[in-house]
Amino acid sequence: MNDTTSRRIVLAAHPHGLPAADDFRLETQPVPAPGEGQVLLRTLFLSIDPYMRNLMEPVGPGYAPPVAIGAAMVGGTVSRVIASRHPRFAVGELVLANAGWQDHALSNGDDLLVLGDMAQPSLALGGLGMTGFTAHVGLEDIGQPRPGETVVVSAATGAVGSVAGQLAKLKGARVVGIAGGADKCRYAVDVLGFDACIDRRGAQFAERLAAACPAGIDVYFESVGGAVFDAVLPLLNVGARVPVCGFIAHYNEAETTTGPDRLPQVHAALLQKRIRMQGFIVLDHYGERFDTFRREMAQRVAEGTVTLREDIVDGLENAPAALRGLLEGRNFGKLVVRVAQD
Ligand code: NDP
Repeated sequence: MNDTTSRRIVLAAHPHGLPAADDFRLETQPVPAPGEGQVLLRTLFLSIDPYMRNLMEPVGPGYAPPVAIGAAMVGGTVSRVIASRHPRFAVGELVLANAGWQDHALSNGDDLLVLGDMAQPSLALGGLGMTGFTAHVGLEDIGQPRPGETVVVSAATGAVGSVAGQLAKLKGARVVGIAGGADKCRYAVDVLGFDACIDRRGAQFAERLAAACPAGIDVYFESVGGAVFDAVLPLLNVGARVPVCGFIAHYNEAETTTGPDRLPQVHAALLQKRIRMQGFIVLDHYGERFDTFRREMAQRVAEGTVTLREDIVDGLENAPAALRGLLEGRNFGKLVVRVAQD
């Protein structure tokens, strides 16, 4: 890229399973000029999130349209306004935007949030942004942990899980994380302050989870599905709450997998134990509530009651591999691509 050209990564093909390098294409085009009422944005940081895999399918997940073949991959960004023909945005302002996988983007301002000065702007994509807010909404609205209850959090050191677990601790719950690997589990206990963390890849995972939850599970923050859900289900207590945030273990499955019909077992558990299992989409909850969340979370981070870890990858060209790594559990913390040095 130079001053007049701009790179973007487009969807080249619908993936079969894990996205491959040739499902994406890097293109170069002239830097666009803003029209009346528009701003030109320079991407500094690009958020890499699991939902991006779902938007690569021909039929989208319903809460957002799928990415068309040949269109730029979508994504949340922290961007700098570098040209403005919009009365509300000045050149130099730092904004939260949806510029997608590209160096530059035009916006009419409707989807922009002015961030002001931030020591670590990328946090606006993670703990102080969409993923932290997701943890907050799922826990407050559905999980509702009470002091002394056992809360289990999957993908426990990830962007959403790490915040969900720490917020549950602040509410006085006993928190057990589930993460992939010994390093992540050590971090969950030593740094995030969880009471225990079980390696989902380790031997006798289900038995070790049961041993870590001697009083059963009152809240299960569900982000993964698959074998992790299988191990959690029999441990759920009467009156348990299950915020269904995601099911990443299945995102690469092209079609519904066939296998033994587990639905009667799930129905029996939900009914007999009066379990509340509820999905939620964070997009439904923005508005004033997001501002309050951001303020409170920034305060918690400043005073050290919540720790945020980022996994930063340099270079827009590395975004496809970063997304693939996320879907394989290789990220350690909120995954962000640094597209440009500020
Ligand atoms: P993370 O930072 O947690 O990264 C994803 C993690 O998922 C990986 O690091 C890995 O953690 C785990 N994972 C990947 N593959 C598998 C697998 N096959 N089985 C079990 N675990 C796996 O991502 P986010 O925090 O951004 O997202 C977490 C979840 O929240 C996702 O399901 C996502 O779709 C969902 N989400 C939902 C939102 C909503 O509005 N409902 C909004 C934002 C996110 P490990 O290896 O440590 O287990």
